[in-house]
Amino acid sequence: MAKKQFKAESKRLLEMMINSIYTQREIFLRELVSNASDAVDKIYYKALTDENLTFNKEDYYIKITADKTSRTLTITDTGIGMTKEELENNLGVIAKSGSLAFKKENEAQDGHNIIGQFGVGFYSAFMVADVVTATSKALGSDEAYKWESTGADGYTIEPAAKETVGTEIVLKIKPNTDEDQYDEYLEPYRLKAIIKKYSDFIRYPIKMDMTSSRPKEGSDNEFEEFTEEETVNSMVPIWRKNKNELTDADYDNFYNEKRYGWDKPLKHLHLSVDGAVRYQAILYIPESTPFDYYTKEFEKGLELYSNGVLIMEKCADLLPDYFSFVKGMVDSEDLSLNISREMLQHDRQLKQIAKNIQSKIKSQLQSLLKEEREKYEKFYESFSRQLKFGVYNDYGANKEVLQDLLLFYSSKEKKLATLDEYVSRMPEEQKFIYYATGESNERIEKLPQTELVADKGYEILYLTDDIDEFAIKIIAKYKDKEFKSVSSGDLGIEADEKDKETEAEANESKELFDAMKEFLGDKVMGVRASKRLKSHPVCLTTEGELTIEMEKVLNAMPS
Ligand code: ADP
Ligand code: MG
Repeated sequence: MAKKQFKAESKRLLEMMINSIYTQREIFLRELVSNASDAVDKIYYKALTDENLTFNKEDYYIKITADKTSRTLTITDTGIGMTKEELENNLGVIAKSGSLAFKKENEAQDGHNIIGQFGVGFYSAFMVADVVTATSKALGSDEAYKWESTGADGYTIEPAAKETVGTEIVLKIKPNTDEDQYDEYLEPYRLKAIIKKYSDFIRYPIKMDMTSSRPKEGSDNEFEEFTEEETVNSMVPIWRKNKNELTDADYDNFYNEKRYGWDKPLKHLHLSVDGAVRYQAILYIPESTPFDYYTKEFEKGLELYSNGVLIMEKCADLLPDYFSFVKGMVDSEDLSLNISREMLQHDRQLKQIAKNIQSKIKSQLQSLLKEEREKYEKFYESFSRQLKFGVYNDYGANKEVLQDLLLFYSSKEKKLATLDEYVSRMPEEQKFIYYATGESNERIEKLPQTELVADKGYEILYLTDDIDEFAIKIIAKYKDKEFKSVSSGDLGIEADEKDKETEAEANESKELFDAMKEFLGDKVMGVRASKRLKSHPVCLTTEGELTIEMEKVLNAMPS
């Protein structure tokens, strides 16, 4: 029989996949299971809408069988099946969406990404198999056909014998080589683990014959092997369950099972949105910073599912940088399984979900701050730097979102305060929000610059983190009150006539100040008399925008 050739694109994809790196190969099973599930979906729908079809719930399933002797792995489904034409059209060309992604990724010289992150469909079977056959009987057809291919050199189609409607995909698993091991794809326990990892929530049973041992009847120390058909997927995802049915422990378990983190989550958020874009999400605010959090290695992102099938382990587009600490997953039936990273970035639905999630996280943090202050402060200890970077980055575009989530240590109550708390405690005549910068609260407390402000009875925010003052400068104003460093030249509290007095004094002492300036040289810009000092003889102040601490940070930055 003459072999038919694949399209050129398919050939390139095949080559790339066959050379794919080890850990990504396992996703072939996800792809085949999801195709099987789609096919069952279609027949299920038909049965629901066609009176002439009668089906039982038990009729819908996917079965996976491994045979070590023949080195075959078989995926059988009771789905809608494919006609001869469909076998040819559907399996002879690579999925349209996948092909675009392939081209783009290939141009970027990084073909591996696409395989790890996205569905590349049926063809991924060639990552682990050197012969693939698909035997199928379509609903309403009397004939069955067998499609067979050894990979890049094309495929054949011939009539076959198959009693029941549905499809059976048989993979002839590759032999091991020095570099590559394929035996694992014939191990039921390994296969089960792959299914659990990627397809646990497929809504039809995925059945496997599992062999284990049990004590022999009537004997205490003799065991016998037995084989039992098992449904290996749980079928109902936790995110589809009703919140009221779930306990904190359920959410904690899911967090650990998914390896979102090794700590316990501080707070979870379960969303079920049924608006213009439908999605469910379970999001977590972790308790502690991942070890690599403040490094370049850290990758933000949420797991992304399309209708119960995992399509991406870390979808970065779902989270703004300032909420990069959030872990969890999103499932949407409005996303296509084969969507590429390129397209995801421009996907309207995904953008909508991301926007929605961002505001949910914000209100979750706000309510934590309001109702569980202790927990919030714990969170803040771990992730405050990220929030402050968020305020500072993008020229302050996100300051509105973030400013109410910030806390600073305050001189008044000797504990953390929000800007709102500060402003609401301000005496009426106080014009500015005062802050002081330094290495630690203790050191700031001893600064001569704080004296005058503190003496007035005004509260001072102590900024001890490098990034603090940058964030404050970007916020610039909170509830119409500007920020003012206690070390700035004009504090806004020295009375007018005092200023004149100072000026007169300064003129009297001009010679002394000139001599001091000459002595100090470039170390200072000038020497002036000041009214702000009480118990200290001198203090340093700054002119213009930068404060002493900011100058230090800027000087320390690599240029
Ligand atoms: P996609 O699933 O994104 O369409 P695939 O490469 O995974 O791309 O599959 C291509 C097509 O082959 C499917 O759209 C479907 O029409 C058909 N197909 C694959 N597997 C099956 C199956 N088990 N039963 C019925 N049709 C299938
Ligand atoms: Mg598919």
